[in-house]
Amino acid sequence: MSRRQWSNSYMEETKKLILKQETEEDQILSLSLRPHRLKDFIGQREVVESLIVSLKAAQKRKEPIEHMLFSGPPGLGKTSLAYIIAREMDARVTVTSGPAIGRAGDLIGILTNLEGGDILFIDEIHRLSKMVEEFLYPAMENYQIDFIVDKGPYAKSIKFNLKPFTLIGATTRSGLLTAPLRDRFGIFHHLDFYDVKELSQIILSSARKLDVAIEEDAALEIAQRARGTPRIANRLLRRVRDFHQVRQLNSTIDKQTVEQTMQILGIDQVGLDEVARRFIKIIEEYYHGGPVGIETLAATLNEEEDTLVDTIEPFLLKIGFLKRTSRGRELTESSLRYLNSGSLIRKPQQQLF
Ligand code: ADP
Repeated sequence: MSRRQWSNSYMEETKKLILKQETEEDQILSLSLRPHRLKDFIGQREVVESLIVSLKAAQKRKEPIEHMLFSGPPGLGKTSLAYIIAREMDARVTVTSGPAIGRAGDLIGILTNLEGGDILFIDEIHRLSKMVEEFLYPAMENYQIDFIVDKGPYAKSIKFNLKPFTLIGATTRSGLLTAPLRDRFGIFHHLDFYDVKELSQIILSSARKLDVAIEEDAALEIAQRARGTPRIANRLLRRVRDFHQVRQLNSTIDKQTVEQTMQILGIDQVGLDEVARRFIKIIEEYYHGGPVGIETLAATLNEEEDTLVDTIEPFLLKIGFLKRTSRGRELTESSLRYLNSGSLIRKPQQQLF
């Protein structure tokens, strides 16, 4: 097979791999709601300021920016930052994810299609297979890949020079990254949960983009229940808007409308939903407050262990409702107080529509 034929067949394969794992609704809205420039990125001040310096330095040197790793819980803006960096650097961005790159060949297809200065964004980079990961090392280090074409006696090793590119990796579990992969990144940033004020600014900005009129204290009320996460804040804003429209309330969205929507959605004042509440209730009721292993909890809750670790636990840890000990997960005084307060929202009987 000629190099061109080979490259064309990979191009087709590659197109299938370039994706982003979000719901369709999230994807459509992400496009319209994502901040486009660093100056529009709300919160994460230290990360943003340090990025400004890195970008300026790279632009001055006329070189691609160094490979960069973003870590932190889902929905905090890792992908948005990758797109922003591409825009600020005037570069193209290719988006894929660890689980989508099944074979080393998939990665070759992606890498050989990159132009000089392009950004390659790999989400969930901790989920790359070992073989694929090893392929990435020389590509990151000196923009080279070494691959075998054909099989048996016709097998040949071809060295391929890539155009200088920047790899931006994102991970919800930086602890699972292997040391050799981690060592090949030059810049590391950890994104933490947003505070209520920042989230309310994000909600007001999204409302403007969606042409939704909302009062400031209503935005604050959504922010309080958004679990420190912009993606959740935007989702809740959409649900409130739907509720407001269906009820044919013409006025501006107020705090009361937010409270009613949250009641219907089963989201309480702290932002916990039914799944998160079940998580802590089960530790209390079945395991007397813990400690209990995460595998056991996942089995009892009939949920994936990764879902619990990635999406439910981080916020419970953040607000001090949960402790992670060497013997397993344990509830804290505050979560026991919360469970005993009786302020939990019951599963709603009422239908939204
Ligand atoms: P991650 O890659 O960390 O899962 P995303 O970058 O996909 O998160 O962010 C999810 C959504 O949240 C985006 O579509 C964007 O609308 C919004 N968002 C995230 N961070 C910010 C921010 N700092 N300012 C405004 N919107 C944000």
